[in-house]
Amino acid sequence: MQITFLKEIVGEIAGKQSRELVDLLVGKKDVNEFLIAKKLKLTINQVRNMLYKLSDKGLVSFKRKKDSRKGWYIYFWTLNTSKSLELLEKKFLEEITQLEQKLKNRKVKRFYFCEICKVEVSEETALLNNFTCPECGQVYSLAENEKIIKELKSRINKLKKNLEMLEKEKTKKSIRKTKRKTKKTVKKKRKKTAKKKKK
Ligand SMILES: [Zn+2]
Repeated sequence: MQITFLKEIVGEIAGKQSRELVDLLVGKKDVNEFLIAKKLKLTINQVRNMLYKLSDKGLVSFKRKKDSRKGWYIYFWTLNTSKSLELLEKKFLEEITQLEQKLKNRKVKRFYFCEICKVEVSEETALLNNFTCPECGQVYSLAENEKIIKELKSRINKLKKNLEMLEKEKTKKSIRKTKRKTKKTVKKKRKKTAKKKKK
């Protein structure tokens, strides 16, 4: 599930093609960019372009090392999973707010539609145009708000479900982190007591 989410946000930022990057980066550290280029059958510049875009948003980080033989730099890339999920959450929330605003408008306002140009206008614009499309002369018909309201509602519900799943992923991740931390502290404490015993 996490991979699907990661691909969504990566694709959103660096283009559809970059979604495949996730498979190569997830769960790994310092992945050689030449390896990425080879696996994705892209040039090194294409790969770097995608990764720079992701790096701008903090989704990936890099280390660079100079190749002593060839004299150029090689970049090694790491995906920042938490940051990616965080950004995706923000995107979902923004979309929900936008759609809810649209839904609100639909419920209180009327819209008009030109069947020929397939263009929708607000009631104010329709009134200004005498309820006739200025492009083709067709008389506007009333837009079917009910259908659009239904669509908007289903899109909002879908996003809310995604958001819920995302929250679950984030909780799972933070639980794992806490567990790891507790393990570390326990180890440290053991070391300390062992040292004290030696003294
Ligand atoms: Zn028209």
